[in-house]
Amino acid sequence: MEILSAEFVISNAEASKCPDSNLPEYAFIGRSNVGKSSLINMLTKRKGLAMTSATPGKTMLINHFIVNDNWYLVDLPGYGYARRGKAGQEGIRTLIEDYILEREQMTNLFLLIDSRLEPQKIDMEFMEWLGENGVPFAIIFTKADKLTSGKLKDNINRYVRQLRDQWEELPPYFISSSENKLGRMDILDYIENINNS
Ligand code: GDP
Repeated sequence: MEILSAEFVISNAEASKCPDSNLPEYAFIGRSNVGKSSLINMLTKRKGLAMTSATPGKTMLINHFIVNDNWYLVDLPGYGYARRGKAGQEGIRTLIEDYILEREQMTNLFLLIDSRLEPQKIDMEFMEWLGENGVPFAIIFTKADKLTSGKLKDNINRYVRQLRDQWEELPPYFISSSENKLGRMDILDYIENINNS
């Protein structure tokens, strides 16, 4: 898929206030600092489209962007951000869960995982929750440029092994780097294929 246009539409603190539209939505989520804003900017080729985690406030909202006038890219808040405190965490969790469970237009969720890390409990639990609720999702391993290809393979295999214990069928996964645009076309083509199916 070529990106012809990508524009910010609205930020919301409530899932029920998301745009009144039937266009398909593809949501991106992950732990804070996983590289979500960088990935969104890389996918859309718009440098400042998604605000990085350095922008206070923005990262606690649901952000809708319209792409090619025919689908929404949705930037969900980062989870597991300790500095927010327990009450703040709960609020974010409710916001995320409401959106994922109630938003009928939500077509696929991309869960971002930092490829440098060992399998993280919070991500494994989140995937379990997605599975229990029948949410369609794919994994994106981010920041691949920060590892040697051997180490990258090792880390991904570790995730795959853990997932195999939990799942009959593995979710699709992509490997990305916002530094060198790795994974860009694969992710965009995946979205296009679903949109055309
Ligand atoms: P967010 O909190 O998930 O939106 O993460 P950001 O996109 O703000 O990225 C967090 C940090 O990781 C920033 O310093 C980015 O420059 C860096 N980063 C993000 N993606 C990549 C990547 O693919 N490669 C490298 N080397 N650094 C990255």
